[in-house]
Amino acid sequence: MFKPNQWAGKKAGVLGLGKSGRAVATLLCAHGMPVLISEESTLPQAQQYTFPGGIEVETGGHSAALFDCAFWVKSPGISPHAPILLEAKKRHIPVYSELEVALAFMPRNVRVFAVTGTNGKTTTTALLGEILKEDARLQGGKRNVWVCGNIGNPISLCVHQMQPGDDVVVEVSSYQLEDSTYFRPQYACLLNITPDHLEHHGGMRNYIKAKGKIFKNQRENDVLVVNGADVSCVELAEKAKSRVLAFATYPKHLLQTAVFFDGDELVFSDGHQLRPPHLKGIHNVENSMSAALMALQAGVPADTVQKAFDNFKAMEHRIEQFAYHHGVIYVNDSKATNLDSTITALKSFDKCQNIWLILGGRDKGASYEVLRPYLTDYCKCVLTIGEAMDKIERELPGYPVTRCYTLDKAVEVAMSGAKRGDVVLLSPACASFDQFKSYEDRGKVFKRLVDARIFKDRIKKK
Ligand code: ADP
Repeated sequence: MFKPNQWAGKKAGVLGLGKSGRAVATLLCAHGMPVLISEESTLPQAQQYTFPGGIEVETGGHSAALFDCAFWVKSPGISPHAPILLEAKKRHIPVYSELEVALAFMPRNVRVFAVTGTNGKTTTTALLGEILKEDARLQGGKRNVWVCGNIGNPISLCVHQMQPGDDVVVEVSSYQLEDSTYFRPQYACLLNITPDHLEHHGGMRNYIKAKGKIFKNQRENDVLVVNGADVSCVELAEKAKSRVLAFATYPKHLLQTAVFFDGDELVFSDGHQLRPPHLKGIHNVENSMSAALMALQAGVPADTVQKAFDNFKAMEHRIEQFAYHHGVIYVNDSKATNLDSTITALKSFDKCQNIWLILGGRDKGASYEVLRPYLTDYCKCVLTIGEAMDKIERELPGYPVTRCYTLDKAVEVAMSGAKRGDVVLLSPACASFDQFKSYEDRGKVFKRLVDARIFKDRIKKK
């Protein structure tokens, strides 16, 4: 376990100059530890970052100075099999995760709520954050609610502002969990497990194992909210020492559920009934069930949960309907970076074979074959982009796809072909890094491309 006192005044090595690497370096430095941030690649943007004195940065490889550091902190994106980590093992250099280092600086009596799952983490984290903030407001605003982690706000950035009595809701990825040993949230949520990040974890077994770490250290009085219709989640939860509460929107669940959906409202076993937030798709009913279960367990009154639900708005890049032109609906689901989330997005529409689906990007290892029945039921045309184009065609033999290479081309093809009543959906089932900086960048480019064409069209008509 990372103990700040043990390392007081000692030099820390931080592997990775990403968001969480920069945040944890600043945190350690503020606590009197000099830091060397060591980045393997030559990051051109490294020059833009400014750091307080006490933080050195090296890019384009790791120097001998890194091995003089007393301990290292690993950024979550680095593969556990990276040669530099094997070297650390050989030299007995302790390596900690950014999450566990940050938590070690957290004051006592802060309630930790953690959310993981293959899909739905950000939505559920944001929803729970809003519920707890509403509760804190209604109680006089004496406690703060921190929403952080994988959601884009590293926990290392906010931990030094936390006060005893605060709440923290942390979105935790499988990478962060894989690197954790002692993490123990009082309230944990495991939304679902479907194939993703298989290359990083070295297969499904390790991926499932990493997800199970969300509750591994939980104790009897802690709470685990789990998807009662997801076999992997249910099997994992059998090992939990904490109180397990299951949710399911489907009648075919495997665990007795603490909440179900009657098609209209969330019905809780203790008698509460809540209207879900105005979000598209049954998957968002699951996300709201999980957020509500955690909040109710933490003592938030049901009417406060309802108020937060009523005020919650759809999030950018997640089945986000952003334009409507000549009877065609344009939807940005750039956050769908795996197959299951694309299937979820398709299922949130009617089976009308009216969707122009833009698919592709950087492949993540799973087979596109699972898409076939959904493409048949929901899609009019599949437009492929990016590195994954060949693999998509190989794994969907006989299914007609239109190769577009770039998002620009795909938008052009979709917009010139789509008819009134059609939907143009970017839900790529792939990572964005082959052609974009991030899924946010990809989503924004998509929206800009569509908006620019709509604008041109309107000007032409005048
Ligand atoms: P994450 O943070 O886990 O990537 P998000 O809340 O950002 O999840 O949602 C990303 C995409 O995943 C959504 O656009 C939707 O297509 C899909 N999704 C969201 N929630 C769920 C869920 N509970 N089950 C399955 N798919 C989901």
